[in-house]
Parts: sequence; structure tokens; C-alpha cells
Amino acid sequence: MISFPSRLTKNIEIFLESKLLKLKRTEKSLKSSDPFADEQRTGNNSVEEDLDEQIGHFETEIKVNFVKKQIVQFRKALTRLKIGKYGACEKCGRMIDTDRLAVRPETTVCLYCEKEREG
Ligand SMILES: [Zn+2]
Repeated sequence: MISFPSRLTKNIEIFLESKLLKLKRTEKSLKSSDPFADEQRTGNNSVEEDLDEQIGHFETEIKVNFVKKQIVQFRKALTRLKIGKYGACEKCGRMIDTDRLAVRPETTVCLYCEKEREG
């Protein structure tokens, strides 16, 4: 199996960790923008205000879920880096194309397996 030189993996680790930190911050700020998190929110809103809040909450949920998935993916990539399996597909074990890794360093599956998964 091919492994990346430590000089390179260190850079990838720094990149992944800084991205992870940003994602966590985004998650936090998204959650605080959720109208349901607003403590000033009153229970006797008009129907329109209620609707706005419901929609706002729904949008926030979608964004938070997206960020959460990203966080999981970055954590996974970091773990694989630490156990020396970075760059190898977690499904088939083949090396992931380096061009693909350059664009998406957090990826843990090769292009072929990702296409398989998407059906
Ligand atoms: Zn694969």
C-alpha cells in the first residue's frame, strides 16, 4: 500500500482540522439563528409569524444537518489519516485518485465506490 509522506499528511491534517473548526463554528451560529432557539419568542404569535418561525426552523435544520454530515466526514478523514489509511478507499481499499483528494481532501471513498453508493 502506498502511504503519503509525513510532510504531506501533516499539511492535510492541519487543513482538515481547520476546516473542522470552521464547520463547528458554522453549526453553532446556525443553531443560534434558529427562531426556535430565540428565548424572546412568544407563544401567542400570529399565524404568519408562526409560519415564518416554522420555515426558519426548517431551513436551519436542513443547514445544520448538512454541516453535521460534513463534520462527520472530516472527522472520518482525520481518523483515517491518524491510523495511516488516508487516501485508501474505505470500501474497496484501492487508492483514491490524488486529483480527487486534492479537490476533496475529506473524501474517504474512491470515485467508483461513491458512484456505486449513489446507485
Ligand atoms: Zn472504492
